[in-house]
Amino acid sequence: MQELQTFFTNTIYSIGWNDALDIAITTFVLYKILEFIKETRAQQLIKGLAVLVIAYFLSGILNLHVVHWFLGGAFTIGLFALVVLFQPELRRGLEYMGRSKFFHARLVSQVDKDKAKFICDEIADAAMSFSASKTGALIVFEREITLEDIAETGTLINAEISEELLGNLFYEGSPLHDGAVIIRGDKVYAAGCVLPLTDNKNLNKSLGTRHRAGIGITENSDALTLIVSEETGIISIAQEGKITRFLDKKSVEKILFNLFITEEEDKKMSRLGRLGNRLGRGKHASK
Ligand code: ATP
Ligand code: MG
Repeated sequence: MQELQTFFTNTIYSIGWNDALDIAITTFVLYKILEFIKETRAQQLIKGLAVLVIAYFLSGILNLHVVHWFLGGAFTIGLFALVVLFQPELRRGLEYMGRSKFFHARLVSQVDKDKAKFICDEIADAAMSFSASKTGALIVFEREITLEDIAETGTLINAEISEELLGNLFYEGSPLHDGAVIIRGDKVYAAGCVLPLTDNKNLNKSLGTRHRAGIGITENSDALTLIVSEETGIISIAQEGKITRFLDKKSVEKILFNLFITEEEDKKMSRLGRLGNRLGRGKHASK
């Protein structure tokens, strides 16, 4: 009893901050892996693997040597197969880590307020004119999760955003009018890109592939999309798998502006501006 007590006391006293960190990191990684399994097609695969593991141990216990040997070999190959099978997810995960807040500032927020106002105005004007002329358009705004693999399905452009350029890109008959335009920061990064379609069954049946593609990418990433219907001229915005339709110019501008400059940043900037003004006035008064 005494020994047991000293064992536990020693163990507790020997836990340092690095052990706590160790446990915290492991918990976090395990949680993320479980979350990943829940969200992706990995769930079925894990069930299959569990059956294999059980079969492996059972065959060992029952002395089924050939089956046991065969399953053992299958695990080694299976490990490589897993990497190949989940290559897109692994790649996206690594790219996400590289882009996350820990390493970089938010890409889009590198635009200052005036520039953001200008860009949002140009895009909202373009949306209005697409709507009036019933020109189909699909614009994706990349945020923290990179859309590099999506951009690779189209043509890289990397040009300043303007109403004219967007008009040209979506002009029917132009080579890049099919597919989506990707906006990265203050640039039109790519055009003619193919997006993943949503398989949401509850969507309005009148929404075709353009809208389904526009929603699909917001389920797979943190991107926001602006969609103009060729059939009806209706302007919509999709975020986190949800679509808001029948938008006017003001609401488009507002939503886009918040994308470039969050409300928090806006408040911070105007506070700094006021402080600057006050300091300026202070100087004049003391003269
Ligand atoms: P609209 O209201 O404009 O007719 P819709 O939602 O009914 O849109 P469709 O009529 O099917 O959709 O639109 C077809 C167009 O949508 C294609 O010509 C193409 O430009 C675009 N599109 C379709 N699928 C994709 C995709 N996976 N990725 C990007 N763009 C796509
Ligand atoms: Mg259609």
